[in-house]
Amino acid sequence: MRHLWFAFMLLAPLARAEGLPDLGDYAQTVLPPQEERRIGEEIMREIRASGQLVADVEVADYLGALGYRLASNSPDNRQAFTFFVIQDPTINAFALPGGFIGVHTGLIQSARSESELASVVAHEIGHVVQRHLARMVAQQRRDTLPSIAAMAVAILMARANPELAKAGVSAVQAGTVQRQLDYTREHEREADRIGLQILHDSGFDVRAMPAFFETLLKGTRFHEGSAPSFLRTHPLTTERIADVANRVEQLPYRQVPDSLEFHLIRAKLRAMQGAPADAVQFFEEGLRNGTYAMESAQRYGLALALLRSHELERAQHEIDTLRSQLPRHPMVEVLAAQVLSAAGHVREALASYREALALFPKHRGLVHGYAELLLLERQAEEAVRFLREQQLVFPNDGYLYQLQSQAYTQLGKNLLRHQAQGEAYVRAYDLAGAVNQMELALKSGDGDFYQLSIVEARLKELRQLMGDTKKR
Ligand SMILES: [Zn+2]
Repeated sequence: MRHLWFAFMLLAPLARAEGLPDLGDYAQTVLPPQEERRIGEEIMREIRASGQLVADVEVADYLGALGYRLASNSPDNRQAFTFFVIQDPTINAFALPGGFIGVHTGLIQSARSESELASVVAHEIGHVVQRHLARMVAQQRRDTLPSIAAMAVAILMARANPELAKAGVSAVQAGTVQRQLDYTREHEREADRIGLQILHDSGFDVRAMPAFFETLLKGTRFHEGSAPSFLRTHPLTTERIADVANRVEQLPYRQVPDSLEFHLIRAKLRAMQGAPADAVQFFEEGLRNGTYAMESAQRYGLALALLRSHELERAQHEIDTLRSQLPRHPMVEVLAAQVLSAAGHVREALASYREALALFPKHRGLVHGYAELLLLERQAEEAVRFLREQQLVFPNDGYLYQLQSQAYTQLGKNLLRHQAQGEAYVRAYDLAGAVNQMELALKSGDGDFYQLSIVEARLKELRQLMGDTKKR
């Protein structure tokens, strides 16, 4: 009962309550993609502000890679996608307008295979490419369309107080429940059909989709009233599962092993959860009793938990074992450098990052970790040089600009500090914040003519973008 509710259950009944006809013309009923994307961006800004977005770049990049692999096999190759992870133990995933797809940590942790996780993400991609959200939003009359801010607040309210939000929805839904259900089931069928095709074309095990749905439904029966939120936002029936299972029967059997990253990411999420000592115990017991899916992932989780509880020698020992068991892996390299750094061996940690970056230049966990350590050691000049280089590789990474702003602060360069912070805000979809920073940059009084004109041009551009957004 999270985001999708507002899109799938609140907006649609509102339109019907207003007595709006079901428009048949595709062009009239679908929101223009650019407008849809802006709505999505504004909601993303609110989600980011809520603090529930998982900032860990390795977790984010894992899901991003999985998502893009699936999206590249979707029938609509013009659609932009953005995948992100929400810190939330409930089992859910959702799509926002504009191709933003969010996955709860609870879903990643409850999936028994990578194909199961992929099946839910593929289902969400199915909703996006069928433009389900865009059609529902477009059906609103302009003057009845809730303001973007109000919609975002509704989402956050649903987070903070699901019961309150649920009551609101039930009231709105009254009278149109049956039609609403039919409508939604049709969407679900479409999303399943397309999701399954995407899953197949991306090389995953298609049997994972009906199997995971079955598990979710069974879980619901055993725990009355505690249905996984995915089921509340994507109504699941035995008929729907049978439908998917039938389609799967027609596809060839294929055994698909999970990636190492799938297990490492799950171990990481578990290791970061709860008290450090409990996390250590969890992984120790697993290793002792052999209750794990992959030994090296279990050991990685233990090493990370040991780092959290500051048992650095033991953490180092686990890393040494891991390195003897696995080919070099960037996630292990990040952890190794963090352990060195926590033990006060800063020079070795920096060297370790540099060596690993030479092997895995595209691994953002290493990029962020190295830049953070440079700043911690007040090597601001080197940090600026490194970050500039990385911004060319990862132009949309707002965190690189935030770190750059910190580096300029250390160097006492005010114009550049605000300019970089402004660029960080742009990438967090916060245009007002970005404009404010550019204005501060102009007032800073320490820029040369060349720097000032760059900021002025950027400020003009941002104000124009903001104006376009307000006109909506
Ligand atoms: Zn669905």
